[in-house]
Formats: sequence, structure tokens, C-alpha cells
Amino acid sequence: MPRALITGGAGFLGSHLCELMLSRGIDVICMDNLITGDLANVEHLFGNSGFTFVKHDVTNYVHVAGGLDYILHFASPASPIDYLELPIQTLKVGSLGTHKTLGLAKDKKARYLLASTSETYGDPQIHPQPETYWGNVNPVGPRGVYDEAKRFAEAMTMAYHRYHGVETRIVRIFNTYGPRMRLNDGRALPAFMSQALRGEDVTVFGDGSQTRSFCFVSDLVEGIFRLLMSSEVFPTNIGNPAEMTILDFAKAVVKLTGSKSKIVFKPLPVDDPKVRQPDIAKARRILGWEPLVPLEVGLEKTLAYFQAKLAAGGKL
Ligand code: UDP
Repeated sequence: MPRALITGGAGFLGSHLCELMLSRGIDVICMDNLITGDLANVEHLFGNSGFTFVKHDVTNYVHVAGGLDYILHFASPASPIDYLELPIQTLKVGSLGTHKTLGLAKDKKARYLLASTSETYGDPQIHPQPETYWGNVNPVGPRGVYDEAKRFAEAMTMAYHRYHGVETRIVRIFNTYGPRMRLNDGRALPAFMSQALRGEDVTVFGDGSQTRSFCFVSDLVEGIFRLLMSSEVFPTNIGNPAEMTILDFAKAVVKLTGSKSKIVFKPLPVDDPKVRQPDIAKARRILGWEPLVPLEVGLEKTLAYFQAKLAAGGKL
């Protein structure tokens, strides 16, 4: 059996990737220090003989016994609230964690995939964002700890590819939503959904005219898997190009929940990008991939997850 290491495997995206890799006949070692990940996300995989969980902080030396065919580096705080609360850990896992896991890939002759982000484009001046755009990032603003760590991680990945000949892939992930998002991670969707379910005011930041483009998680991980199996070394955007304003997104969530919540406006966070939309021409061309799940369908599935969590006594 081929074998993969997934760092951040107990997180939102990591846990969906663990499942996808197992379903494609690849054994998975899921590594996570559980600062933002949650064992509940992978509990159902513990009975699978191809699945192993290791609690470890990948900013320290990573040891894995035996062979490895793939390493997917997904460990990182990834919501604005998380990386504002964990700025040093965010910088360390993007820099030291990327270095350690690339070293492991070199040692094991494993193919390496870096989870990068649309945040590398910062507050973009080109819209939609193609991979060839170099971005508009404020290195010293509050988001700099995430954006610059991921930009460094991309540079480090390319260096290991060019200097050591490691087989590398870089995915730039745009806004993604779905089951297993943390209910309190401060992102737009969990915030809006939990506020609507509690009947509280729904907090739109700024005037809500900033845009995002939301991809359902099953589409996203399929795109990432195809990229991993491709031969493309340079960064590739994976996301859903269906762009909408945050105000319209909030309204869609309130409507879906049937809540009587009012929408209220709060100050816009520093350096909050005004627009964001992936140009996915490259993914379409080289991977034959595009998102398939419409927003209404994805939101329904996410709502069902949030409601089940609530029913099980989970806090919103
Ligand atoms: N946002 C909002 N209310 C919230 C949380 C987020 O209006 O309670 C906005 C946020 O300012 C941003 C957008 O929703 O413009 C998406 O935010 P998120 O934190 O999900 O991710 P980002 O795309 O900013 O990394």
C-alpha cells in the first residue's frame, strides 16, 4: 500500500483529506498537535487498519518509521482569529514546520504537497487572481504572520525542488466551507451559522461589500488529490470562482436556517481583503477539475453538521 503523512490531519481540511486518501487505497499517518485540530474529526477513522494518528508538533524534528510516498503539509492555524491568537505558532509551522517536513520528504523520497493559500495574494490589485499574480501583502499587519509564513513556505518548497530535486506540489487554497469547520473559529460561515441558529445578531464586518468565493470541502479535496497526482510543480489555485459579497453570503445563511436574526455591521478588521476570487483556468486545464457542489447544497450539508453537533451537546 502507498503511504501518506498528512500534517494537520485532524483539522478541517486535513481530516477530509485523510478520508479521501484512505478511500483511494492510500494508508494515512495523521499528525497533529491538536492546537486547532480536533480528534473528533478523525475518530471514525480509528477502526481503519490503514489509519494511524500521531500527536506531534511538526515545528520539531519529525520522525516517521518506514517508507512514505506522500507528505501533505496542512498543519497551520488558518482562520484570521486563530492566527491572531497564535501568531508565533503560525509563523513557526509555516517556516520551521515546512522545513522539517520537506527534509523528511527528501529523506523518504516522498512527493510533497504544500497547503498554501489565497492569502499569498494579500489584498489583491488584480481580480480574479491568477497564479502568476505576485500579490499585495502587508508583512507587518496582523495577517502578515500567516501570509508571510505561507509565502516563505512556497519559497522553501521551490528551493527543495530545485536544489534537492524533491517532487513538490503547491496548492493555493481559497475560502472553503463544510462539515468539521470549528464552530468558534471566527470565520464568516461558522460565525453566521452559529449566530443564526442561536437567534443572535449576525455580525457582518464593514459594509459587507467585500467579496469572497466559497468552495465546498469535497470539491476542494478532490482538486488537491488531482494536483498531488499531477506533475505540476508551480502553485495552482483550487477554489470556487462563484464570487459573492459577504452581505449576500450572510443573508443566504440566515435564510437557510430560517432564523429571525438581524444583520448588524461591525468594524472591518485590519487588512481584510476587499475582493477575492480564484482564477481556476489552470486547474481546469491541467487537472480537468472544477467545483461541482452548488452553494445551497453545500450550505445544507454544513447546517446539518452544525445542528448535529448542537444536538450532541456541542457548544456553538
Ligand atoms: N466576516 C464577517 N463577520 C464575521 C466573520 C467574518 O463579516 O463574523 C467577514 C470578514 O471580515 C471577511 C469575510 O467575512 O471579509 C471572510 O472572512 P473569513 O474569516 O471567513 O476568512 P478570510 O477570507 O477573511 O480569510
